[in-house]
Amino acid sequence: MDQFERLSQLPLRDDLRGQHPYGAPQIDVPVLLNVNENTFGVPLDAKEAILKAVADELDGLNRYPDREFTELRRALAAYLGHGMTQENIWAANGSNEVLQQLLQAFGGPGRKAMGFPPTYSMYPLLASGTGTGFVTGTRAADYSLSPESAAEQVRAQAPHIIFLCSPNNPTGTALGRDVVEAVYEAGEASQAIVIVDEAYMEFSHEGTPSALSLLPGRPRLVVSRTMSKAFALAGARVGYMAAAPEVADAVRLVRLPYHLSAITQATAVAALRNSDSLLANVEAIKIQRDRIVDELTRIGLTPAPSDSNFVFFGGLEDPRSVWEGLLAAGVLIRDVGIAGHLRVTAGTEQETTAFLSGLRAILAT
Ligand code: PMP
Repeated sequence: MDQFERLSQLPLRDDLRGQHPYGAPQIDVPVLLNVNENTFGVPLDAKEAILKAVADELDGLNRYPDREFTELRRALAAYLGHGMTQENIWAANGSNEVLQQLLQAFGGPGRKAMGFPPTYSMYPLLASGTGTGFVTGTRAADYSLSPESAAEQVRAQAPHIIFLCSPNNPTGTALGRDVVEAVYEAGEASQAIVIVDEAYMEFSHEGTPSALSLLPGRPRLVVSRTMSKAFALAGARVGYMAAAPEVADAVRLVRLPYHLSAITQATAVAALRNSDSLLANVEAIKIQRDRIVDELTRIGLTPAPSDSNFVFFGGLEDPRSVWEGLLAAGVLIRDVGIAGHLRVTAGTEQETTAFLSGLRAILAT
């Protein structure tokens, strides 16, 4: 009996039977450009500050941490600006956990969430894990979403939770604030919680608006962010949201007590104190992102405009063999399962060069 058969003998929930765990392949190659990390790593001064902050926690490690992670909420509010205070902030182990907690609080059996694929593939999985239904909306052929279309689809579906991802993963493109406004209004009838997932917002082009400025007067609106991308802290697992204080109170009803460890809190606070240093590589990443878009266009592929740290590109006859060819050349990128397309993270200049020259070589054969 193999492991899969042994699993099927367990009294697993019916809706989990036959499912596979989500996750991109973890393959050890020199150039990892598949999960939209910040590949620059943590700068030395930030590393030293984090090390000291964590060391300072060790004396009190026999005690549970601050359940309300007050210092971290204060630091996150200061980072976001837009008049946010600690009451507006909630954090968890990655923004995935924040999204899961929102589904636990506002979704559940008999309720449904809605997303607009192609978008972040965890949304339906988080819904399924929390017993929440999931319905999908549609985008235009170029993957854009107009305020009119989004609002009409929301009115037709009357969901309880709506995911808007901006900049969107995997396409990379940001949504206009008018889409968020229209969706919020259209969700009024079903009292929908509207989650704008801004995991990649720090990489957006200048002038791309954040939904943070829409929060005042919109108690059903939530803006989700993460320290996994621009802050180069994916390994620390810190995500957060900004919303009306009562949304944070709703999430308090479902969170596990002490869900953010003292080590996590100390790491995140120290990182935020060193945000200038940690975010210094964002500009370098944007340059590589724009370089990828330019180069791919030049070689006849069709990259989508990107406000994120990755590029989604089409025009490939056989994406699987391109993905395999790059892997053989030591470059791991992402096949997101969309015909003719692949997605690549913008890394350092050298990593980007490795990707571009590998791709050119493959397409020339
Ligand atoms: N939202 C989006 C759009 C993402 O792409 C990701 C990570 N790939 C997340 C949320 C979750 O990130 P984390 O849990 O590391 O904060």
